[in-house]
Amino acid sequence: MKKKGIVLAAVAVVILAAVIVCDSVFNKTVSDTFLAMNTTVSAEITGLKAKSALTEVKEKILQLDEKLLSRTNENSEIYAVNNGKTEISDELIMLLTILKEIEQESGGAFCLGVAQLTDLWGIGTENARVPDEAEIKAAIENCFNWTIDYDNKTIHLPDGVKLDLGAVGKGTACDYACVIASESNCKESMVAVGGSVLLDNTSTKEKFKVGIRDPLGEANEYCAVIETVPGCVSTSGNYERFFEDENGKRYHHIFDPSTGYPADSGLMSVTVVTQSGTISDALSTACFVLGIEKSLPLLERYNAEAVFITEDKQIITTYGELENETITVTNNDYTLGEVK
Ligand code: AMP
Ligand code: MG
Repeated sequence: MKKKGIVLAAVAVVILAAVIVCDSVFNKTVSDTFLAMNTTVSAEITGLKAKSALTEVKEKILQLDEKLLSRTNENSEIYAVNNGKTEISDELIMLLTILKEIEQESGGAFCLGVAQLTDLWGIGTENARVPDEAEIKAAIENCFNWTIDYDNKTIHLPDGVKLDLGAVGKGTACDYACVIASESNCKESMVAVGGSVLLDNTSTKEKFKVGIRDPLGEANEYCAVIETVPGCVSTSGNYERFFEDENGKRYHHIFDPSTGYPADSGLMSVTVVTQSGTISDALSTACFVLGIEKSLPLLERYNAEAVFITEDKQIITTYGELENETITVTNNDYTLGEVK
């Protein structure tokens, strides 16, 4: 009898050890931080194949920048297109098709053909300046008139127009990371590429907490926390890149394509949450240009939620009506309101 008890205890210990080992193997979490797309990328992935998934995510994001999206890297497809190449890959056609639709749905607040304008203002470079009216007018004249010929798989840019995917590349990187993590059956992944963060959680579907940066604070200071279901969260803000003229007037890097000047819609930042990184990133830029009221149909069209932070320190959100998503203000300088 006593012997039987000892055997049972030993079996229990073995089973417990096996469970612990399995858990640590199946729920292994790995993380990494690296530079890509002119920003810091942080990734944390949990699952049996987390390590190989993380390696793949890193390679993919670096490759995406170098080979597809960068307009400064001579090996990238966008660089080639901006310098006269017309044939484009299926991968680029797919991405540009979504973005052309967002240009149209946003009523022209979002515009991929802003490269000339971006270069003219030079915001974030040592050549930042306020261009003269004629230069601005020329830069915006044809910026929407790029077209795709689907039969021949070619793209056509009007003279002088170049594409700038700076408003979406980071969100697109999140989408690629999401596909890799889910194909590797990872249970949980968090991949932050600059202002876009992918939050994926196939195991528990628990909510995630995401801090929203205080537009007037340092990079690590938050003014609110949202709790959200898995998806992608992208923020556009006037604090990211800007310069001030001799009178202290601030010129930031998000342009209103209808004027050619930095958008002036009364906002300091917009955070958009939706299922696709490309879409959340494009919409955060578009909504920054549109301002609160004009953004609402666009957000609804893409089933997205948003948190707007106004210049007078109000945090206005579409979250009010949602049961499973909440927002908490963590800095008392700000007041919370809902969209009307
Ligand atoms: P984001 O920080 O995602 O809002 O992206 C801002 C970047 O997108 C800028 O630095 C420009 O490269 C580009 N950009 C500026 N204005 C626009 C616009 N209206 N539509 C699309 N891209 C823009
Ligand atoms: Mg964006």
